[in-house]
Amino acid sequence: MLVGLEGVHVEQVQRVDGVLVVTVSTSPQPMGCPACGVIAVGRGRRRRVLHDVPGATRVRVIWRQRMWRCADPDCVRGVFLEQVPTLVKARGSITRRATVWAIRQLRREHATIAGIARQLGTSWKTVWRAVEPELARLAADESRFHGVTPLGVGEHIWHHVDPRRRGPKELTGMVDLTRDKDGKTRARLLDLVPGRSGKAYRDWLQARGDAFRNNVEVAALDPFAGYKTAIDDTLEDAVAVLDAFHVVKLGTHAVDEVRRRVQQDTLGHRGRKGDPLYGIQTILRAGEENLTDKQRARLTAAIDANPVHDEVFIAWQCAQRLRSAYRAEHLTEGRRIAEDIADTFATCPIPEIARLGRTLRRWRQAFLAYFTTNRTNNGGTEAINGIIELHRRLARGYRNRHNYRLRMLLVAGGLKQ
Ligand SMILES: [Zn+2]
Repeated sequence: MLVGLEGVHVEQVQRVDGVLVVTVSTSPQPMGCPACGVIAVGRGRRRRVLHDVPGATRVRVIWRQRMWRCADPDCVRGVFLEQVPTLVKARGSITRRATVWAIRQLRREHATIAGIARQLGTSWKTVWRAVEPELARLAADESRFHGVTPLGVGEHIWHHVDPRRRGPKELTGMVDLTRDKDGKTRARLLDLVPGRSGKAYRDWLQARGDAFRNNVEVAALDPFAGYKTAIDDTLEDAVAVLDAFHVVKLGTHAVDEVRRRVQQDTLGHRGRKGDPLYGIQTILRAGEENLTDKQRARLTAAIDANPVHDEVFIAWQCAQRLRSAYRAEHLTEGRRIAEDIADTFATCPIPEIARLGRTLRRWRQAFLAYFTTNRTNNGGTEAINGIIELHRRLARGYRNRHNYRLRMLLVAGGLKQ
């Protein structure tokens, strides 16, 4: 614990009321005036109390900081204090190594600022004042954007208060979807900007410059036209890929809509316990390959209960076909199914499926791109949103968007350390 206090030597170690107190100072050496360079005269010491990395107990570092006075009586500088940047920042009260420790705790150990403040025996503000400039410096380093070829985008809600007070509730997040050598996506949050709009995404892309934009090969997104326009406008050479999970969800949603409509038409009320279609709603949402024999039997019985239920069954088959495109072992086979869906669903007599078909026809290229980009998807962005949500809860919410952005960049891998 006593090693690593760089630039000073230890004079004394004591235990005072259960706190480890370490007294340090620099070795004497001639000091030049920072203003004029004239050798300065020693003017005694000042006691600075610093918070340090806790071990079994809290640790206080007492730094006997030297004071100097310029020897030239005409110099404007007068008296000045020695500085040891490797020990602590000027006017800081948390040691350099405790700041590094705090950032690692936030990043790796799900720590909160309040928790770190408690461990150091200081206030939330003091901890954040030490940590914030470090995170801001790392966030400003544009080299963290280098080498991104698959890029994801998605939004999340970061607060629920009046937007006039705190700005837009949504934030748009950009995510590096680069895969490791085993082909596994190692998602990394690149940035968060206010709003959920094509403009938010486009402005961010434009600010990254040509080198970044030319490097992006695939751009994954959820079915939101604003983001698509931003990709088309600013990433001319990139292939836009519609997220597979969201496409499957559109299919499941269409089946749900058909079931509710048929139910309402035949019974005159919303589904309730005992109604045949109500009883199979979870079965209809599952993948066919996952159904047990018992579930299959229940599905058949519910459909057979009324000839008009056939519409629900057809819609379900359509959704299963959509799933099967993604489940196909070979991408060429999957692509063939997807092309067929994009060509035919729009003319389906079931209105909900026809609407799904029109959506997929409109997104045709991005929908089919999954099959030509080695299954690129936006799952990494979804995973990052999960990390963000966890940390928002740990901190019990945020009031300040600047702080929120820095903390999320840290925990979601966006900062180089
Ligand atoms: Zn001077």
